[in-house]
Amino acid sequence: MPNFNDDLDDFETRDEASKAAFSRLKEWRIADGETHYLRLVRNGAINMDVHQYIPTKEKPAECNWPKWPEQMWAVCRRDKAFRLTDEAGNLLDEYEPDFGDCYIHDHYAGIKGKFGKDLSVPAVVGYGLAAIRKVVLDPVTRKPMGLADDTFEFRTPAGDIVTLPKLVIVAQKYSQFWGAIKAAQFLPPYNMCDKDWKIVRKENDLKVTALNPTPDLQPGTANWKRYEQAIELLGASVEDYLMESASREHYRKFFIVGELPEGGYGGGSDDDDEEKDGKKGKGAPAKPATAEVDQDQMNAFRESLTNRAKPADADVAAVEAEVAGADSSVSPVF
Ligand SMILES: [Zn+2]
Repeated sequence: MPNFNDDLDDFETRDEASKAAFSRLKEWRIADGETHYLRLVRNGAINMDVHQYIPTKEKPAECNWPKWPEQMWAVCRRDKAFRLTDEAGNLLDEYEPDFGDCYIHDHYAGIKGKFGKDLSVPAVVGYGLAAIRKVVLDPVTRKPMGLADDTFEFRTPAGDIVTLPKLVIVAQKYSQFWGAIKAAQFLPPYNMCDKDWKIVRKENDLKVTALNPTPDLQPGTANWKRYEQAIELLGASVEDYLMESASREHYRKFFIVGELPEGGYGGGSDDDDEEKDGKKGKGAPAKPATAEVDQDQMNAFRESLTNRAKPADADVAAVEAEVAGADSSVSPVF
């Protein structure tokens, strides 16, 4: 017998925790001139066709956000992740239910974006999950002693306060980021999670350096459990993140003229989700936090998405192949 409860205080706490968790899973950004340290906590990257820098529709009257994003991104609803396969795994021309249409493909074709590129042509972006790391200095010599997690206090649904590492979605192109990750793990154990990565941005280029392997901090070790705990408590899922940005709700919310998201527009007060276009810091409530994705549908797609996130070569080579034919002059997603 399930233990249903009608305790509204508990409901409120859980609701807040769930909102808080969602809002904490943001895309990693690095500004020009900055140096960051990341620990990839997912051994692989899911590559997707993504429509970037897409002008949004006029702000609907139903939306009471103080600011409306001028541009937004979306996972293409014709990405091959949504195509059906035959028993041998070959892609078919049919799509999963509710996919295969793409408003941006159909309505933005021929329109040139700010990089002179047809807006309907998607770019290939690889998505991973990482913990933000910081340098620990020797208090006397001020020399780096090692790296530690950047953390925050999180209130669990049960009301406990736990300290968790900050997790971010890493959305980067092969040429900017994942290619370097691949190059640094071309020998066994082919593990991108067993070391920290130093990333320096200079203008639009990222320099990615692998630091020394850390045998006591990698998947399977006791120390790694804190990442597993954070992933679980925060519901940090690259697949969910991509599904939401591919959802019809997301397209209705920002692009499809004359249609509204069934879940409405909600509060929206986050400023990190507007497509970066030089207006950083202005604050745009663009988080599609209220988009409801059907759970059965999501579970079905999670499998096909996960199949595309094979570690190392198979996965990254696929990005490489796709990027080879893509326009690399487009600015990276930061
Ligand atoms: Zn599309």
